Amino acid sequence: MVVKDVITWTSIVVAYSRSGDMRSAEEVFGRCPVKDMVAWTAMVTGYAQNAMPVKALEVFDQMAALGMVVDEVSLTGAISACAQLGAVRRAVWVQEIAERTGFGNNVVVGSGLVDMYAKCGLIDEARKVFDGMQEKNVYTYSSMIAGLASHGRASEAIALFEEMVNRANVEPNHVTFIGVLMACSHAGMVGEGRYYFAQMKDKYGIMPSADHYACMVDLLGRAGLVDEALDLVRSMTLKPHGGVWGALLGACRIHGKSEIAKVVAEHLFKLEPEGIGNYVLLSNILASAGKWDEVSKVRKLMRKQRLKKDPAVSLFEGRDGLVHQFFAGDNAHPRTQEIKKTLLELAAKLKLEGYVPILSSIVYDVNDEEKQRLLIGHSEKLALSFALLTFGSGCTIRIIKNLRICDDCHLFMRLVSRVESVEIIVRDNVRFHHFKNGECSCGGFW
Ligand SMILES: [Zn+2]
Ligand SMILES: [Zn+2]
Repeated sequence: MVVKDVITWTSIVVAYSRSGDMRSAEEVFGRCPVKDMVAWTAMVTGYAQNAMPVKALEVFDQMAALGMVVDEVSLTGAISACAQLGAVRRAVWVQEIAERTGFGNNVVVGSGLVDMYAKCGLIDEARKVFDGMQEKNVYTYSSMIAGLASHGRASEAIALFEEMVNRANVEPNHVTFIGVLMACSHAGMVGEGRYYFAQMKDKYGIMPSADHYACMVDLLGRAGLVDEALDLVRSMTLKPHGGVWGALLGACRIHGKSEIAKVVAEHLFKLEPEGIGNYVLLSNILASAGKWDEVSKVRKLMRKQRLKKDPAVSLFEGRDGLVHQFFAGDNAHPRTQEIKKTLLELAAKLKLEGYVPILSSIVYDVNDEEKQRLLIGHSEKLALSFALLTFGSGCTIRIIKNLRICDDCHLFMRLVSRVESVEIIVRDNVRFHHFKNGECSCGGFW
């Protein structure tokens, strides 16, 4: 093309970011001679949708610094980025911009804010935004219900669902039911879960997807009905995905069902050959049942597959609003020496309170000393140590973790919340854990 205008350039940026190639999108954006608001917005949205939230907020900042007008789309991108990061200070800042630019009453922006605050661990703030919204649609309700569910506030979630369908006359969709079933599951409400699962199809004509089955399996499994959960999976007409089998494997761990676990793991190994978490979980279950021969078989399998550990990462928003990243066993943080020193002192203090590291959380074939060394380097512990270092006792600490929290870190957090009188909120890949006075909101089931 001889003449390329900003629309042409922006279309290419959008096309690259939709195909997940942000590097090429960046390059095209860089070469675009005149950038308008739509072009900048395309970059914010692209980064947010491709799970690069830090970049999304950087570009959003640049837009603001250049005095660009923000619209519903760029705001939604920034809101989604804050939700992914769980960054509270940034979240408040984005809400201020939304209100200042006249999008405070926009239903799309508002629904995003509800989701954002819930994912940042500020569930009451999410509720405040929700209650203040004049117009609410199915996305607004679904975000609020899912938020309440992930924070373990099941009865509130169910009450809101009833209000939605009976008083507000908003028709639920498949996303709404994920939230409702999740709420039932986290609270062990088996009867209610069965009721809504049936109602979804019979009353609203929504065919359950594999995700809904995963919620039901989780619900039955947590409640100890592992055999029934297995029957449900076997009765499925659609093909169960990794989430369904994964929920069942989790239930086998909680209730020590090593025989069912072996069957379930076979399916998972086929569906997710790279997923090391499944091997770890199975070998933990077998180890708890004392089946050491089989544990070593699983370990051999892991070595044969040359599985690399999923990179565990924890995020923590510092005083300055900067998001600090911690990887397991990482020395990259500029204050790594202090962080480690604080952590070792903390562990020593907890040991006086009866803390014994849960070595079975490490499945590698290494000696106990090495296991202790690996455990103390878990990413959420590094983030916690940095938080205590910079905020001190008596504060609320919010940590975002990309994987399931391990038994040892869970115990560690519980004890720290008591010994240091801090409230710790950890978001792992499924739910929130609120640690306070030595207890966790999940009640030990996660
Ligand atoms: Zn851990
Ligand atoms: Zn917990």
